[in-house]
Amino acid sequence: MSKLPKFSELSVLSEIPESSNIPKRIQCVLFDLDNTLVGIPNTYSYFDTIIQEVVEQDFHLSLPSKETRDFLWRSGKNFIEILAQWGIQNPHQFWEYFDKRDGIKRQDLISKGQLILYSDVIPTLTRLQQQKIPMGIVTNTPNFIALPELEHFHLKSFFGTVIGLGDDQEKAKPEPDGVFEALNDLNAQPENAIFVGDSSVDVLAARNAGVYPVRISRKNKRSSGSKRLQGIQYSKIDGLIDLFSLFHFVSID
Ligand SMILES: [Mg+2]
Repeated sequence: MSKLPKFSELSVLSEIPESSNIPKRIQCVLFDLDNTLVGIPNTYSYFDTIIQEVVEQDFHLSLPSKETRDFLWRSGKNFIEILAQWGIQNPHQFWEYFDKRDGIKRQDLISKGQLILYSDVIPTLTRLQQQKIPMGIVTNTPNFIALPELEHFHLKSFFGTVIGLGDDQEKAKPEPDGVFEALNDLNAQPENAIFVGDSSVDVLAARNAGVYPVRISRKNKRSSGSKRLQGIQYSKIDGLIDLFSLFHFVSID
């Protein structure tokens, strides 16, 4: 097939301002999972409750302040230090307890039908798949939780790779490791890829991997950490369908 863009594609391209540095020819799309594709109701209190339960019920320690609990999410590799300040010397044990509780609660949400599949997900993934754009997921949720979630919503077949967080919390976003792994699995180059996520951690992980970040705002979701994104170039969208007016998708083959 000819590599020359069709007229209709050119007209889309011309809508992008000349001065924009956003990449125009995209060959690979990576997504965050939670609150990007699948919504967790009351996300903030959902995860904060798990932290509280792990600290108080599993470690029998007193509860750290709300501010330090919030900071844990954005800490990257510094989580070891933060947990040590709370009196937790074995961070891996902390995440083991955390994931176990998350897994049980997530199953419960699925069985009660309380996880939300956003309405723009299937149309967007279908369109990208039709355009032969390789897609992957990079999530800080472990695979044993992410995969059943994807299966439940029949999303698994869209993705060439799903990089959940393994035992190595030090590779959690905003570290770029998961993004690199996904690009490698999909044979894609960072400069031809975008990463779509809802949180500042996603924007930072993308930037750290040299992938162009796209931040989606989902209604009723708490958006935090924007201050940390000052000076970083990324695009904001209100729905996944907006991707098609911002970018020109080009299949590698
Ligand atoms: Mg998310």
